[in-house]
Amino acid sequence: MEPVPASTNPKVSHKRRIGVLTSGGDAPGMNGAVRAVVRMALAQGCEAYAVYEGYEGLVQGGDMIREMGWEDVRGFLSEGGTLIGSARCAAFRARPGRLQAANNMVLRGIDALVIIGGDGSLTGADIFRREWPGLIQELVETGVRKEEEVAPFQHLNIVGMVGSIDNDMSSTDATIGCYSSLHRICEMVDYIDATAQSHQRAFVVEVMGRHCGWLALMAGVSCGADFIFIPESPPPEDWEHLMCGRVENNRKRGKRKTIVIVAEGSQDRNLNKITTAMVKDVLTNRSHLDTRITTLGHVQRGGQACAYDRMLSTLQGAEAVKAVLEATPETPSPVICIIENKIVRRNLVDAVEATQRVSKHIAEKNFEEAMKGRDAEFLEYYRNFLITTDIEREDLLLPKEKRLRIGIIHVGAPAGGMNAATRAAVAYCLARGHTPVALYNGFPGLCRHHDDEPLGSVREIKWLDADNWASRGGSEIGCNRGLPEADMETAAMCFKQHNIQALFCMGGFEAFTAVSQLRKAREHYSSFKIPMVVIPATISNNVPGTEYSIGNDTCLNALIQYCDACRQSASSSRRRVFVIETQGGASGYVATVAGLSMGALAVYTPEEGINIDMINDDIKYLRKVFAKDKGQSRGGKIILRNEKASKTYTTDFIADMIREEANGRFESRVGIPGHFQQGTTPSPMDRVRATRFGIKTIQYLEMFAGQSKQDIADDPMSAAVIGIIGSNVKFSAMEKVEKTDTDWKNRRPKNEFWREFKVLVDTFSGRNLKRY
Ligand code: ATP
Repeated sequence: MEPVPASTNPKVSHKRRIGVLTSGGDAPGMNGAVRAVVRMALAQGCEAYAVYEGYEGLVQGGDMIREMGWEDVRGFLSEGGTLIGSARCAAFRARPGRLQAANNMVLRGIDALVIIGGDGSLTGADIFRREWPGLIQELVETGVRKEEEVAPFQHLNIVGMVGSIDNDMSSTDATIGCYSSLHRICEMVDYIDATAQSHQRAFVVEVMGRHCGWLALMAGVSCGADFIFIPESPPPEDWEHLMCGRVENNRKRGKRKTIVIVAEGSQDRNLNKITTAMVKDVLTNRSHLDTRITTLGHVQRGGQACAYDRMLSTLQGAEAVKAVLEATPETPSPVICIIENKIVRRNLVDAVEATQRVSKHIAEKNFEEAMKGRDAEFLEYYRNFLITTDIEREDLLLPKEKRLRIGIIHVGAPAGGMNAATRAAVAYCLARGHTPVALYNGFPGLCRHHDDEPLGSVREIKWLDADNWASRGGSEIGCNRGLPEADMETAAMCFKQHNIQALFCMGGFEAFTAVSQLRKAREHYSSFKIPMVVIPATISNNVPGTEYSIGNDTCLNALIQYCDACRQSASSSRRRVFVIETQGGASGYVATVAGLSMGALAVYTPEEGINIDMINDDIKYLRKVFAKDKGQSRGGKIILRNEKASKTYTTDFIADMIREEANGRFESRVGIPGHFQQGTTPSPMDRVRATRFGIKTIQYLEMFAGQSKQDIADDPMSAAVIGIIGSNVKFSAMEKVEKTDTDWKNRRPKNEFWREFKVLVDTFSGRNLKRY
């Protein structure tokens, strides 16, 4: 390597320089991650550098390593792929390539790298970090760099972020990009579903994922597929028999269509490849079905990131920069992960090793270990899939005395995923021998039934009714806001008359209130001395006892779509501010998380309220931003205002004030997406989580079978709410949650985990930067 002339030697800088690169296959959300790293670095007083084309840029140096300013990453959140490029770089696999990379980094004064990629990229990163002191020494020994030049760069900080559509990294529940890819897949399978149904056809759909079956499994769960093939759990050698048996059974029950999902890495237990063509031939020749193949291919990689990936990449990017700044030479390199709802740091080497162990287990035909080696949810989802696709299983059937009649009721407003949860609950009930009973149209429906419709609104749910609910929005059994308190007497009588032995109560704050009322009414009505669970489902995500309500992801996606469209509409006029009113009741969750995921300029929440100083600050900030604008602000700015943030400062009022104060330098518009926020088709995340909550809830309820009414009433856990709290899914006793975690007046939890995100919205909007 040629020594570099003195004039290009690194400048002495007191500012920390952080490099960011994307490597391996592209994934939606990578741009969001780059944006977050760059802006967080700048917000923390560091300098940010983008390394273009992955490790290739690091090896080549020069113009491929570029300093990034605040505006350079504007608009990144909504772009698919990776705007700083990615490549597979052979040179970096060998030491001479890495030596060159080290030299380029010293030249640029960069000693911290955030790498966004798959396990290969992170392996390379760790090798680079381990070799770093030796590489630096070699640069000096060979005269490429002087001792004093390398002196400030004795240690390299590496932080990994996992960007991959495959979700193949152990130690994290989700990689950046996997849910966007799942969105694409589910959208396509939903389309296929309609034509399959019309012509009674079978479709064999191949999905990506290389050696990982996550996409295939989740698509199977989300779309209610009949059969899936995944590499971690290959079918037995006579899979043809097994698959045809299941497909034919479903057809006998009246199903008009068949969907089989094949992961691209599928194989049998002897590691012989299973192809879509093989599956098609079997379905055609043995089951005599008109069968077609659809290979989804690269559409699965493309397109915009879904709401979850925008949020995940933003939160993880912020965490990655924090990790860089907190690292000492002794700190092992971390990889930023998410477990359920919590961003955590894990040891990068351990995570990569655990990931590679899964491939090894598969190669050694140790499939049990391979299944366990994926993230914690994987095995559970696989079991859930099997239950919802094969309800006639001798091994699951309970003895008669353990079987229950389980009432299923939807309370409040509809939310995406309610049907998927109900479908899963019904499947599990049937597999266990329970009787799922729909209580149509909520509590008013149940009570009305007593007077007017003796047969109509309480009905057992048959599998054929529920089987195709996986992807349907709304509520098939009808929702109603009415509470049992309105006519407790009749509600109790109906429970008794229909012999309801357990209650599956799904909905938002009303569902929570309903179960609270039933629990308290146990004192007077013994028919409520049954186990009951609230399954939180509301776009507002304001149910106490959980950080995640089914349906809020669908809402965030709808809202982001709406805001993207608003921004685009302003792309020619440029200087426009949209004040958009979000739903959410008295909870600012939707506004804040949507604001974080779309890069809003400000969010107004009921928790904080709105005052004149806030509006004044925002207008001042808008003036500064637009004064600096040289055309980069194309697409306008978004301010999200929750519908209940203030009685006085309404959405129209704020927009008018902005217009007035702008003095013609920019303009404002109001957007009220209203019920559009409930979305149409539920998002895959809502569908899979709904499935999980649905099955877990019935498993929970059935634990009370055989207990006396009094024992049930005495057990605080017999009225519970299921939820995700931090990194756990758990049931919490209603009594406790009602007393300690609930802000009854404002109909929201007392402690809202997302409140800290508000600071990040402000950080990423740039208002805290000194130079603005
Ligand atoms: P994806 O999951 O999308 O395939 P990945 O990060 O696993 O992403 P790879 O092709 O395995 O993709 O790796 C990307 C790049 O990382 C490689 O082209 C190479 O430059 C670098 N890399 C991978 N493995 C190593 C290694 N063992 N040593 C050094 N560099 C490596």
